[in-house]
Amino acid sequence: MNKNLKKYQEKRNFEKTKEPAPKQIKKHKKLRFVVQHHLARRDHYDLRLEWNGTLKSWAVPKGPSYNPKDRRLAVQVEDHPFDYRNFEGTIPKGQYGGGTVMIFDEGYWEPQSKENLDFNKSIKFTLHGSRLKGNWALVHMKDDNWLLLKEKDPYVNELDIKNYKTSIRSGRTMKEIEQNVVKKKTSKKDFIVEGVAISNPDKLIFSKPKVTKFDIVLYYQKIARRMLPFLNHRLISTVRCPSGINGDCFFKKHLETKSDGIARIHVPSDKDKKTDYYYIKDISGLISEVQMNSYEFHIWGCKANKLSKPDMLVFDLDPDENMSLDKVREGVKDLKSILDELHLVSFLKTSGGKGYHVVVPIQSLKSWTSFRKFAKNIAEIMEMKWPQKYVSNMRLKNRKGKIFIDWVRNTKMATSVAPYSIRLKKTPSVSMPISWRELDKVSPSEITMEDAIQRLKRKDPWENFFDIQQ
Ligand code: ATP
Ligand code: MN
Repeated sequence: MNKNLKKYQEKRNFEKTKEPAPKQIKKHKKLRFVVQHHLARRDHYDLRLEWNGTLKSWAVPKGPSYNPKDRRLAVQVEDHPFDYRNFEGTIPKGQYGGGTVMIFDEGYWEPQSKENLDFNKSIKFTLHGSRLKGNWALVHMKDDNWLLLKEKDPYVNELDIKNYKTSIRSGRTMKEIEQNVVKKKTSKKDFIVEGVAISNPDKLIFSKPKVTKFDIVLYYQKIARRMLPFLNHRLISTVRCPSGINGDCFFKKHLETKSDGIARIHVPSDKDKKTDYYYIKDISGLISEVQMNSYEFHIWGCKANKLSKPDMLVFDLDPDENMSLDKVREGVKDLKSILDELHLVSFLKTSGGKGYHVVVPIQSLKSWTSFRKFAKNIAEIMEMKWPQKYVSNMRLKNRKGKIFIDWVRNTKMATSVAPYSIRLKKTPSVSMPISWRELDKVSPSEITMEDAIQRLKRKDPWENFFDIQQ
């Protein structure tokens, strides 16, 4: 065995830990790197760079920073075997490094200059990961102490890496990785749905009523035939709740892990530094998003292959707090009367929250500018016609007793919740397409997942949505 891995072996008892055994591999042309978040006696991040068939390793207590002003201490530790880059799991208490390991980021790296690369001196290198990109430097200080620095480049930003709470490989949080280990001991069975292995199927997402991750998987599987036409090749954002609605939930706009059935696309933007967005291609893509704990789906007003041509207008009626449902319904009717006058066919859905959404399939508005203007005009007409009932300006303080006609959804990168999506509110309600006749009967948050599935048996109230040419 390589003498570099000797220390690695000496420190561990491979009868007790599942960490990979020391093994020397051949050199690769493209060099891999991994950063593992290691919650042991002390919380830290391990940076590992492939070199000569092993992983050169540093423990970085605070983890890497995207800010060149930060100088992060990196303590060099023993070389690790190449396979260590795949290790995610727990190391038993009492063993060396006892705790939980999560794959924080991975990808390829390259030295900035191939000549004179000496791991006893400072190294300048480039990372090609998902979360860590661009140029970095490891500066040797004394003994095992180094400094990890971000170099100035377009990837510099204010983001705190602590914002990333999940594994780049499995989408799991630290807690889920621990729980999974406990689970594996009791049951070996993984559920496969639409070709996707569902981990942690029993995880509780909603507590009242009790809804597990697997219930949600089955819901989306059943609703897929109605829902997919609205997701199909349409850019999306999702809300991820890895620990259920009582844990941290976050809006996900960019893809972190590749899976079948999901595609990534580049959309230049001056607001957002990250420019890759994504869409679902088929049912396996939908299920794999749910597997990654995305339970709420939001869609753009355009498709991935026609980014500059929006095709779906959405008006979101946001009532002021405590407004009676009658007034909200009156608002929806007033909006419909204006759309009717313009001979525009419109469709109604519950938001699953506090209001209703009115959706208009439209092909005649050729650009985002005219699309947005048109939506704004309609909201302004409502405000002009009924000033005591509606406002069209989001920033207006005086919204008391009024409904905000949110037309801003109709902006290029804005989203609205997808038809049939579950909402991650206290109880799981669905944003449900309903017929106009049902407006007075169905309240914004009353449709449950079971109701939605039952309703599949009825005639589709949005049946001709995709046939409308206007
Ligand atoms: P409600 O009826 O309760 O208002 P809603 O879906 O209309 O439900 P809003 O808060 O009005 O919710 O938001 C409108 C839309 O704006 C959402 O459907 C969503 O697509 C988008 N949105 C909301 N919050 C965010 C966010 N943090 N990041 C990006 N988009 C968001
Ligand atoms: Mn709303």
